Amino acid sequence: MMYLCGECGRLFDEPATWFESRGEFWGMPCSERMTGCPYCHSTDFDEYDPDDDYDEDEESEDGEDDDGREADQ
Ligand SMILES: [Zn+2]
Repeated sequence: MMYLCGECGRLFDEPATWFESRGEFWGMPCSERMTGCPYCHSTDFDEYDPDDDYDEDEESEDGEDDDGREADQ
């Protein structure tokens, strides 16, 4: 199973875990365990399965945007 970061778009095998300070709770330093992208530390990531052979319509439109306009100067 791979994961795809929704922030930087990179793939990774395992989400990274780190601790983020959440201030204090009843006088004790409180930190939250975070899970996310090892590259950009975004928690916005999705499971990505490369074996999943779903049909994706590839849009290979040859958009020729050349109307022969000359630069008017
Ligand atoms: Zn990322």
